[in-house]
Amino acid sequence: MDVFAHALWAGALFKAYNNKARRKIKLWKAIAWGVMPDVFSFGLLTAWMILGLIFGGTVADFHQFEAMEPAQRDTIPIFQIVSFMYNFTHSIFVFAAIFIVFYLIFRKPMLAMLGWLLHILIDIPTHSYQFYPTPFLWPISSWKFNGISWGQKWFMIANYSAIAIAYAALYLWSRKTKNRFPKKA
Ligand SMILES: [Zn+2]
Repeated sequence: MDVFAHALWAGALFKAYNNKARRKIKLWKAIAWGVMPDVFSFGLLTAWMILGLIFGGTVADFHQFEAMEPAQRDTIPIFQIVSFMYNFTHSIFVFAAIFIVFYLIFRKPMLAMLGWLLHILIDIPTHSYQFYPTPFLWPISSWKFNGISWGQKWFMIANYSAIAIAYAALYLWSRKTKNRFPKKA
């Protein structure tokens, strides 16, 4: 899924969680973890392309790479880095390992990190074989699910409509709870 939708879904789901939970999660942290996997993979690629645009010499057209065979694309050094980072940031095993390390360091679960897990879980069904299927079992297995591509128009419309509905529902929910416990004047 695109990085903005990831941010919006993380915001909505963790806000809903906070409405119910006693131990609140900082929303900006959950959102930051929720976009991290793409920032550290595609973000690198975007930065590289912007630098290419500024300094000239490299190609800045993303669609050119999309049309390439993955095997051919991955002979380009920047794509090797992106592929490695994509595997690393989209693996549930890497997530689990780092979650445990943080738990041992801070002596409590870093719940905002669940934004990262949410990102992986959302990506699994929303990427097809054509464009970066989610390597969620990396490095144990290279098996990937062939989902539906989030880049299609109908999917974008449906997804952002669902996001709008989720935020409207959250708004109504917070109004309802406010009415139930009116603030003292
Ligand atoms: Zn992703």
